[in-house]
Amino acid sequence: MLRVAVVGSGPSGVYTAQALVGQGAVPGLRVDVLDRLPCPYGLVRYGVAPDHEKIKSLQGNLRTVLEDERIRFLGDVEVGARGLTPARLLELYHAVVYCVGAARDRRLGVPGEELRGSFSATEFVSWYSAHPDAVDDGFGLDGPGAVVIGAGNVAVDVTRILVRRPEELRPTDIPQGALSALATSGVREVHMVARRGPAAARFTTKELRELGALPDTRVLVDRTDLALDPAYDDPSGLPAVNRRNLDVVRSWSAGAGRGTPAARSVRLRFFLRPVEILGDADGRVAAVRFERTEPDGAGRVRGTGRYEEIPAGLVLRAVGYQGVPLPGLPFDPSRGTVPHEAGRVLREGAASPGEYVAGWIKRGPTGVIGTNRPCAKETVASLLADAAALGARDVAPDPLAALRALGHEPVPWSGWLAIERAEAALGGRLGRGPVKIPDWAGLRDAARVVGEREGHPIG
Ligand code: NAP
Repeated sequence: MLRVAVVGSGPSGVYTAQALVGQGAVPGLRVDVLDRLPCPYGLVRYGVAPDHEKIKSLQGNLRTVLEDERIRFLGDVEVGARGLTPARLLELYHAVVYCVGAARDRRLGVPGEELRGSFSATEFVSWYSAHPDAVDDGFGLDGPGAVVIGAGNVAVDVTRILVRRPEELRPTDIPQGALSALATSGVREVHMVARRGPAAARFTTKELRELGALPDTRVLVDRTDLALDPAYDDPSGLPAVNRRNLDVVRSWSAGAGRGTPAARSVRLRFFLRPVEILGDADGRVAAVRFERTEPDGAGRVRGTGRYEEIPAGLVLRAVGYQGVPLPGLPFDPSRGTVPHEAGRVLREGAASPGEYVAGWIKRGPTGVIGTNRPCAKETVASLLADAAALGARDVAPDPLAALRALGHEPVPWSGWLAIERAEAALGGRLGRGPVKIPDWAGLRDAARVVGEREGHPIG
């Protein structure tokens, strides 16, 4: 018997579990997938925007994996809390694969970042995704202007949600509080601002195009911003995705859709880097001060000493995620990842027996959901190559009992199914489809009370 813990039930964790049971060379292999939250699916549930139903439907594939009889989901188990250290986990399992993602937002490092009305995109995404740790701060939706800093897919997501009309969000599982707040939002113009040019933007073309297809919303691009991009006149040397992005913004700058009256607008700006978030007398965000940049000839940009201010009541900083160190596990702060070799965790340069990583904590916060598949496979190949040695080690006979002895009360798969039923019931009462429960107490009550009443045993 080989008992493996996978820490994290987002895409990388689930693909790791799938590869463990699917690559199948080890009979008697059992996998416990632990998650800090009572709910599975990680960023597919708590990061993918609610209006991206097609990507969200990936949950169906992840569900099939977690329902495999060799895999057991244990929610509401936080590694690092109540004595459940990486060292303790190794006493319960022959191997542990950390798939804990990159939980924190990167900082801008400019004055004013802490002003009221300035948020990381992660905070905003957590709020509209009903993450139970999200803080409902009202989010400065009084309007009329908002600035989104960054040019990745998260920037595109939050920009889109800010201008979506309530009737478009209502059919999604967005929590009722966020839906109501967005329905009364006064935000009419969103500036999405990149420090480099359109040819260097990180968003993908499908996501970018979606902005142009939003009802009652115009996308505006300033041609003088674009003309600064060295690739503007000759995009032939660009990778395909950048070329396509450039084509899309070029069509917008030429005025596509500009003549149509619209209630809201999205303004894409380039070659502006934030230098300060400016506040009003009450300490609220009032504007963002940017320095105009120009290409430095090496793919980056340099400042020009010319400045511009964009007024805004809301600032969302969408400049990327960052890995968070897990006490007891090595961490490379410069990369925000756990040092590894083909997924084997390195301690002082040598592979640590039984410890592995996959996903963003292994390779950094880049790539789409599918990128996690080959990443997980590589890690699992390493683990299975080590299986004989790993299995020879004695571990505690019953990890579930050991977790409970430490004071953890794992939510089993049946508890998660009970949460799903409670969310369907909540949506029914609101005249909507399933609506996410946004708080810890609500999730735990749904998981425990409904789960127990219906007699689902754990395990
Ligand atoms: P990202 O793709 O790394 O983009 C970060 C953006 O922030 C870049 O435009 C970057 O500019 C900018 N930036 C970084 N530091 C900055 C600073 N100090 N000042 C100004 N701008 C700064 O990160 P992300 O948008 O958080 O996305 C993370 C990953 O999730 C990506 O792989 C993304 O594709 C994926 N994702 C996918 C979807 C989807 O498929 N629909 C949705 C959401 C997220 P530079 O390029 O100049 O550094």
